[in-house]
Amino acid sequence: MDTMKLAQLLFPNVTDTPEILEARFPARDLPEGAIVSRMAPSPTGFIHLGNLVQGLISERMTHQSGGVLFLRIEDTDAKREVEGAVEILIDALKYYGIEFDEGATKEGDKGNYGPYHQRQRAPIYHVFAKKLVEEGHAYPCFCTEAELSAMREEQEAGKETTGYYGKYAIWRDRSIEDIEAQLNAGNPWVLRFRSEGNIENQFKFDDLVKGKLTITENNIDHVLLKSDGIPTYHFAHAVDDHLMHTTHVVRGDEWLPSLPFHIQLFKTLGFKLPKYVHIGPLMKMDGNSKRKLSKRKDPELAMTYYKAAGFPVKALYEYLMTVLNSNFEDWRRANPDLPAEEFKFSPKKLNPAGALFDYAKLTDVSKNVIAKMTADEVYALFVEWAKEFDPEFAATVEENKELTTAVLSIGRGGKKPRKDLAVWPDVKPYMGFFFDKYFTSEGFDEKFDKATIRTALEKFLAVYDAADDATQWFDKVKAVTDEIGFASDMKAYKADPEAFPGSVADVSNFLRVAITGKTNSPDLYTVMQLLGTKALERIGTAMENL
Ligand code: GLU
Repeated sequence: MDTMKLAQLLFPNVTDTPEILEARFPARDLPEGAIVSRMAPSPTGFIHLGNLVQGLISERMTHQSGGVLFLRIEDTDAKREVEGAVEILIDALKYYGIEFDEGATKEGDKGNYGPYHQRQRAPIYHVFAKKLVEEGHAYPCFCTEAELSAMREEQEAGKETTGYYGKYAIWRDRSIEDIEAQLNAGNPWVLRFRSEGNIENQFKFDDLVKGKLTITENNIDHVLLKSDGIPTYHFAHAVDDHLMHTTHVVRGDEWLPSLPFHIQLFKTLGFKLPKYVHIGPLMKMDGNSKRKLSKRKDPELAMTYYKAAGFPVKALYEYLMTVLNSNFEDWRRANPDLPAEEFKFSPKKLNPAGALFDYAKLTDVSKNVIAKMTADEVYALFVEWAKEFDPEFAATVEENKELTTAVLSIGRGGKKPRKDLAVWPDVKPYMGFFFDKYFTSEGFDEKFDKATIRTALEKFLAVYDAADDATQWFDKVKAVTDEIGFASDMKAYKADPEAFPGSVADVSNFLRVAITGKTNSPDLYTVMQLLGTKALERIGTAMENL
């Protein structure tokens, strides 16, 4: 076979050579050990937690090493493409702190290794496709869909491996005359790789997450270019990651079965193989068994979920670090105040089987993260969230910024900060009672008779003085407690609860329910200070309603 002639027949317009492209995209000028990696999403519009995990890992690895992170849009499947998906993706990743140094941006491509949209790279793939044909490593295949499915059925019926290989590779050794006749008839063709691999052969391969793998050689003549001249993922991966000088490929382990082919392809093209970081899927417990998070069953797989649910970005980030690197929690305990970005992330610490996603743990981490924020930070992030998801409450809070910030300051900043808030929707039940519009009452504990509660409230109103400090205030609560025959000394009460109708804790709760409507609230003394006369009005109303 005259492969030079075949190459010219298939790619008459390709005049560039691999050497020209190599010169156009020279090695990057980076310090020793700098990692170059990328996110290479398909613009389908759906962004899931797995994308963020992959993004975070490559972001950490590149930026921690002084390297480069770029965004490449894998738009080779026009059918799946959703308009605006690239913008959605860039915004979502930015929201979670992943910013790219180069690649696709909302304003167009940025960087010296583009274009960064694969469909615009067709002429580049064709240069390498032509070279493969010239060297006898690729050939056109004119099989129709019908022929291929008949082949697949035959293979399935005979319990054989499916695919285009061996005797099934019917265009592999066809004469140039046959090929020319098809081309002249204008029949569509795909370009296939001519595999020299043998499934009897195995070799060892090191994956940065999975460890040592035993790989079986690929013997399938996979498609490199589809009939529209657009490459398959495999071919685009090899050409792009080579020309863009990717050192580390971080991707989902659903690509592992294709790895033998990728290794073969890089070798045949004469490209240096990047390092691979194959990450396991996100898992969750379903009853007693683990399963992959599913798009259909688990709303928490969608990236949009976390924003709407009101988890601060920092919380999700901190949580993902916790599940991705087993030593993160120890580091966090030793460095409670350092930003999470200072943690030294290592792909070696990833769980090869995939991280276990645990909603309760996320909530817990989020509580800790919010507890450590300043009141101003909580206010700003909360308002930003509420403007989108609870605009009415956002307006109330913004009209009362000073009060809201003061409330959010209660119990904040000390060694043991309060942990009332896990997500932004928790703010309203926590402090909505400050505004009459959102005040509702749980009602008093029915264990106590109404007359007792009324007396306690009445007595308290009679002695309350807004100028009291917290100790004086509590002394008055205790005095009222004694007057109605309840125990003001908790020790004495606990020693013999039967001896008293109730304790100072119950009396405090009468006040709390009257003022806040709830049995659980921020520090009541401070709440009364902030509410001013409104607190006394609330006590009055509660007495009327008893
Ligand atoms: N477009 C591929 C995907 O979305 C990219 C995989 C890779 O990172 O190489 O799965």
